[in-house]
Amino acid sequence: MKQNILLVATVSLAMAACGDTSTPDADDTQIADESMANDSALLAEWDTPFGVPPFDRIASEDYLPALRFGMDKHRQEIADIIANTDTATFANTIEMLERSGSTLTRVSNVFYAVEGAHSDDVMRETASTIAPEFSAHGDDILLNAALFDRVSAVYEQRDDLDLTAEQLRLLEETHKQFIRSGANLDDESQSRLREINSELASLSQTFQENLLDETNNFEVLVTDKADLGDLPASLVALAAEEATKSGQECECWLISLQRPSINPFLQYSPNRELRKTLFDAYAARGNNDNESDNKATLSRMVQLRTERSALMGYDSHAHFVLSDSMAETPENVYGFLDQIWQPALRVSKEERAALEEMMRADGIDDRLRAWDWRYYTEKVRKAKYDFDEEALRPYFEVNAVRDGVFALSTKLFGLQFVERNDLPKWHPDQQVFEVKEADGTHLAILYMDYFARETKQGGAWMNELRTQMSLDGEVTPIITNNFNFPAPTESSPSLLSLTEAETFFHEFGHALHGMFSDVTYASLAGTNTPRDFVEFPSQVMENWMREPEVLRLFANHYETGEPIPQEIIDKITASAKFNQGFITIEYMAATYLDLAYHVLDITEMVEPDEFESKIMADIDLIDEIIPRYRSGYFAHIFAGGYSAGYYSYIWSEVLDADTFQAFKETSLFDTETAARFRTEILSKGGTRPGMELYVNFRGREPQIEPLLEKRGLN
Ligand SMILES: [Zn+2]
Repeated sequence: MKQNILLVATVSLAMAACGDTSTPDADDTQIADESMANDSALLAEWDTPFGVPPFDRIASEDYLPALRFGMDKHRQEIADIIANTDTATFANTIEMLERSGSTLTRVSNVFYAVEGAHSDDVMRETASTIAPEFSAHGDDILLNAALFDRVSAVYEQRDDLDLTAEQLRLLEETHKQFIRSGANLDDESQSRLREINSELASLSQTFQENLLDETNNFEVLVTDKADLGDLPASLVALAAEEATKSGQECECWLISLQRPSINPFLQYSPNRELRKTLFDAYAARGNNDNESDNKATLSRMVQLRTERSALMGYDSHAHFVLSDSMAETPENVYGFLDQIWQPALRVSKEERAALEEMMRADGIDDRLRAWDWRYYTEKVRKAKYDFDEEALRPYFEVNAVRDGVFALSTKLFGLQFVERNDLPKWHPDQQVFEVKEADGTHLAILYMDYFARETKQGGAWMNELRTQMSLDGEVTPIITNNFNFPAPTESSPSLLSLTEAETFFHEFGHALHGMFSDVTYASLAGTNTPRDFVEFPSQVMENWMREPEVLRLFANHYETGEPIPQEIIDKITASAKFNQGFITIEYMAATYLDLAYHVLDITEMVEPDEFESKIMADIDLIDEIIPRYRSGYFAHIFAGGYSAGYYSYIWSEVLDADTFQAFKETSLFDTETAARFRTEILSKGGTRPGMELYVNFRGREPQIEPLLEKRGLN
């Protein structure tokens, strides 16, 4: 996720992409109490090895005062920059801005890492207390006219300052950030901008709450076990548990509209009527003309975004958003998507024919419908590949997968990993490693936190506890990887699924991006890249995971030590392209919908139902597939930071497939290609535009064919 240059690390988590809401308080320049720094473990000098955070000495109560102290200090530092009576220079303005807020960054990096992975009530309370304060703090800086004057003064002379390429980039990015926040608008426009941002923030909150209600307010109680079909035993047990929890005393199973509940049901239930009932309810969320209807909310959001982009001087919200991405313009995104859409549509029609045939064999004389797709997909999968993913787990014990990831990094980059049991952690289950170069030089510290627990948020992610930089001497990175893998039990170690093992490789790709960073300014380091570039280094790592040569490095049975059988490897390879037409079309339909809303240049309210139907007709979407997200529940774009950016995932995938192709052309472990990938991409952070980095690595722009090949769409 792209980070704010002035508030490295904090803002990506604390602020939504569509802007912040609070009113800044211009006089709020309290004097930071330096004495506080002495008795807070967070604020004192960290005398730990490698300067890692002293997790064992930090109490949850320490964060709020330390964060506020950091903000006060940051405010003072900004005030000092403005108060400087010397002419604004790169050194006294841009570099001082870069140095400002270092205490806040240090504290907030630790806070958000621990809050995500091992939270408690105090920390959650702190997070919600501090969010509006952060937001106001960001406004105070980015809408500060005196500060913007100094930044602009330096920017105007940029060609005469004899700056290095990285310095020029920092100057341009800093200036751009002020402009994109509205710093150069007149007072009237700025106050309108604040109103728009504020209304958008509350609308997005409303959208999220409505969606939650709509998802939770519908469930189906299954009373005949036959209706569950071949639903895996663990999910049957879970559905029974849910029924009991809701007060049912029958032998029955509760299916909800949560993805982990409805999706397997649609895959396995032979009861076509019930599948339809659940599917329709799922697809109608936010569109039921009740008090939780999202149509007016999202329509107003589209209208406000369009107005805001015009205020900023852009043709549309998409133009505004994309001007700060690798893709640059909506035209480029459309041009790219259109190359994948037609082949994917063709493959999805072939898939439909195979499913329909399977349905006929089932004795059903009807057209295939949307609620049949997943069910017959499972039947075809079983018939064609006889592949049970659950049977793979014994080969993917978590430490074995970790060793596989490490072994791959050693082969590619020569890295060494030394476990350190002497460093403080935030949870006893964590593993900590010192990562060294082939010659033994220290590179980074890596924290691994594998298991799901109640105190951890869902999903998997990477954090930087300390970002690499060399502005005032070399600072080496401290990186974390976080997962929600099943915890070991008394009878079994933590055994991963194929997808979970892939996630391990993915997050480790983000970790490499952070660890290999080799830049001067933290704002441009590591994963501080545009949204449509940041998933590229992580996704590329996934490619290795399924390769037979790589599986043989680590996938040994946890009990017998036997290597994964060739027969299973063959099945993994054979089924890789299965159902990719559907997966691509479902995702891309939502991408087209996202763009369509955000390239509008009229500010009349749209009617979402009609609008969506028209856009789907324009792209010839087939009836049996609906967009992965329909308007009423498209939280990525109406309640998250992905408006005009949902395409990013497949954009990054083109880059990763084309990159992996470079290895396939030589060898999967080709050290020369790996070194070039490290130097030209992974070490460069956001110091150059993404396309330029890519061309430097690959010698040309990315080609789409490897992606089509990988997904079986060629
Ligand atoms: Zn990722």
